[in-house]
Amino acid sequence: MQTQQITLAARPHGSPEDHCFRTVEVSLPEVAPGQVLLRTIYLSLDPYMRGRMSATKSYAASLAIGEVFMGATISEVLQSRSTDLDVGDIVLSYSGWQTHAVVDGAAVRRLDSAQAPVSTVLGVLGMPGFTAYAGLLEIGKPQAGETVVVAAATGPVGSAVGQIAKIKGARAVGIAGGARKCAALIDEFGFDVAIDHKSEDFAIEFADAVPNGVDVYFENVGGHVGAAVFEHLNTYARVPVCGLVANYNDTATAQGMDQLPAFMRQMLSRSLTVRGFIQNEFEQARGADFQRDMSHWVQRGLVRYREDFVQGLENAPAAFRGMLQGRNFGKLIVQVGAKTSAV
Ligand code: NDP
Repeated sequence: MQTQQITLAARPHGSPEDHCFRTVEVSLPEVAPGQVLLRTIYLSLDPYMRGRMSATKSYAASLAIGEVFMGATISEVLQSRSTDLDVGDIVLSYSGWQTHAVVDGAAVRRLDSAQAPVSTVLGVLGMPGFTAYAGLLEIGKPQAGETVVVAAATGPVGSAVGQIAKIKGARAVGIAGGARKCAALIDEFGFDVAIDHKSEDFAIEFADAVPNGVDVYFENVGGHVGAAVFEHLNTYARVPVCGLVANYNDTATAQGMDQLPAFMRQMLSRSLTVRGFIQNEFEQARGADFQRDMSHWVQRGLVRYREDFVQGLENAPAAFRGMLQGRNFGKLIVQVGAKTSAV
């Protein structure tokens, strides 16, 4: 059995251009006892993969040159030597950027499309949804009447943050790039206010949108958005630092005046809580709560989600690059192979 893979060909300097990706065809090993042969249907693209392309030390190991890109996948079982899985089962796996894979049956989870569309385990009912839930509730702790701000607000993390904030009785201010995304924040996701960070007057428009200041800033992007929001943090504001996607393609440290003393002074004088996190640190404590609450909210239409499908594994590099520039509109998923009746 052959699999087509996309591997890391070179480390990027700035945006991950085509020369960083290589398509290869390799033979898969025989399926051993306990293992399954999978055919990929959907592949999740997530911003964290940009960090894994660099050699910089981080919370997770970098990809080695020649290694297949990692990523969550939804796959069909083509062959099974696992006692728990049957041919035709649809599973959540971490097979990465490839058309087929042989993996241990114990490492995958069977999905039931009767509960929810299976693609949602890559977004609102999966890792990004859990990131929003855990980061907002464990660190942000929004109270009724408070103002919660989030950017990348039409994405899977940001859209869930805003809607959970509303469920908790807070006022949700969403920041997104462009008029179409801002309209969706109001019409689809029920934010109270939407601000376009590409507007020339972004900082002024943002200031007008938060007359009572900001109590929770769920930091998804950094950059000029983070700088504008920090000006308006209230005393005792909470800042869950989730991601800094505006900086992921940076090639050098910004020059200019050292901003750190002013930032520290603001933390001190306004008694701020600024806390970084990686979602899986909350998995044990809040994973089951998330499954229960988020499934309930999605079923009742209290949390809505948007998915952006791209066709073909060969288009994954361009789609991934585009996501880091805001070209996706919702949870970015590559359809790698044909769907079955269970998907
Ligand atoms: P999205 O699908 O929202 O995609 C990223 C979005 O970031 C783009 O669509 C774009 O939206 C926005 N963006 C890109 N560049 C800029 C910029 N310069 N200024 C402002 N916005 C920008 O991604 P996710 O929802 O999957 O992830 C959101 C964040 O959460 C990321 O930073 C990611 O790394 C982080 N994350 C962290 C986790 C953790 O455990 N800490 C786990 C999962 C995600 P727009 O067009 O609206 O600008």
